[in-house]
Amino acid sequence: MSDNILIIGAGLVGTLLAHQLANRGYAVTVVEKREDMRRADISAGRSINLALAERGREALRRAGQLSNIEARLVEMRGRLLHPLEGEPRFQAYGQHASEVIYSVSRGELNRTLISAAEDSGARIVFNASCEQIDLENRFVSIRMDDSNTLLKWSFDRVLGADGAGSVVREAILSASRQVGVLEEMDHAYKELSISPAEDGSFRMDPHALHIWPRGGFMLIALPNPDHSFTLTLFLPREGERNSFAGLQTPSHVRAFFEEQFPDITPWLTNLTSEFATNPTGKLATLRCWPWHDGERALILGDAAHAIVPFHGQGMNCGFEDCDVLLELIDQSGHDWKQVIPEFCRLRKPNADAIADLALKNYLVMRDQVRDTTFALRQQVEFELERRWPQQYIPKYAMVMFHRIPYAVALERGAAQEEFVAQLMASAQSLQDIDFARADAWIQTHLSRPPGLADWKVAQSRL
Ligand SMILES: Cc1cc2nc3c(=O)[nH]c(=O)nc-3n(C[C@H](O)[C@H](O)[C@H](O)COP(=O)(O)OP(=O)(O)OC[C@H]3O[C@@H](n4cnc5c(N)ncnc54)[C@H](O)[C@@H]3O)c2cc1C
Repeated sequence: MSDNILIIGAGLVGTLLAHQLANRGYAVTVVEKREDMRRADISAGRSINLALAERGREALRRAGQLSNIEARLVEMRGRLLHPLEGEPRFQAYGQHASEVIYSVSRGELNRTLISAAEDSGARIVFNASCEQIDLENRFVSIRMDDSNTLLKWSFDRVLGADGAGSVVREAILSASRQVGVLEEMDHAYKELSISPAEDGSFRMDPHALHIWPRGGFMLIALPNPDHSFTLTLFLPREGERNSFAGLQTPSHVRAFFEEQFPDITPWLTNLTSEFATNPTGKLATLRCWPWHDGERALILGDAAHAIVPFHGQGMNCGFEDCDVLLELIDQSGHDWKQVIPEFCRLRKPNADAIADLALKNYLVMRDQVRDTTFALRQQVEFELERRWPQQYIPKYAMVMFHRIPYAVALERGAAQEEFVAQLMASAQSLQDIDFARADAWIQTHLSRPPGLADWKVAQSRL
């Protein structure tokens, strides 16, 4: 392939894309402002571990990379809820053994993909920041950190995988006189950790995503392969109580944890130092359009659609972007003129949908999972799925265990939830559910959901 492709950003999306494009014969150069994380002892940035779901797994599988990381994944089969009083309660994510998600180390996954990209022939230049892009004349200005020199590199096509603060996005938007909208939440997050027990084992069940839902805020924990857990506290930024603003001193922090999370506070040996040292991260949804400038520039991953992390789908969605782009390239015989606008047309409604789904899931995780009606609704949904497996798939499963387009999951999920709420109106248990009524509704309203491949056809008939 004669195209000279420049990718900005060697994060998760940039490296997967570089690997896959180099495999197709393109000359690929990746510019990354950070050091090479395989050599330097640096963290991979925000969030130490991530939930990997089916969309991300499928993209890694197709790239031949899932097998390189599989042994280091920790399976999470459901949520383990830690109420303030009483015993922890387990809620399975799905009813089939395969319906699980996986905790993966961001650093390990990124290092694996960096090596894969290089092995397939991509050149990655580290310590190199893209400062400016001249789309008209097709060159970028790159600042080399080591020498502090500014270089000008030309490209045939520039792909922006440079995350939420994307310079490629800024260039594309300014060329079409548009601005992106960053919707910042009034909640923020902070990461903490639980070390392994003295005998080296996990301190809690490793096969669950742990949640301490507290109504207006929550704490979660994901397992790591070294038997530690990474905790993330999501809390309002302002307010006198139960907020980051209210946790100004080590004694405030300790008292808050002892009050809200008494079951694990004794294991948080570095609580106050970690709380003081680890950054407080912002949470925001980025919406922007257009995502491309003709056939010469395109953004994908967080650069195009950064979302809040409550559905664990940002990376999964970015990996699915790569899959869709590559499929279009292959199908069109590498006709980028056709590929780029089609990619944007297909992905934008899905990116908007997962952004909304992610915002809604914060309420589910921090609050609704505590209700007894939530448990009954899940039982009812599993039963509907068991009886009508081709038609009824719970919303969570559509997002996490299938590659049903997010926009379809959002729309069908809302219709399903409304119907199930009616079905459960005066029900105390599964025995009270009128399944004949459910049958009539499902036959009228739900056909088999479309997969990614047939979504184009299905857009008009969800
Ligand atoms: C707290 C938290 C938890 C999360 N949990 C999950 C989860 O469980 N599951 C999930 O799927 N997603 C999760 N996400 C989302 C996920 O982290 C992102 O969607 C994903 O990292 C996006 O990948 P990316 O490659 O598009 O961008 P990034 O990971 O941001 O990578 C961008 C890369 O570009 C580089 N770069 C930026 N600007 C320049 C420049 N000017 N020049 C050169 N290089 C540049 C950066 O250094 C970086 O390496 C979470 C996010 C957060 C904040």
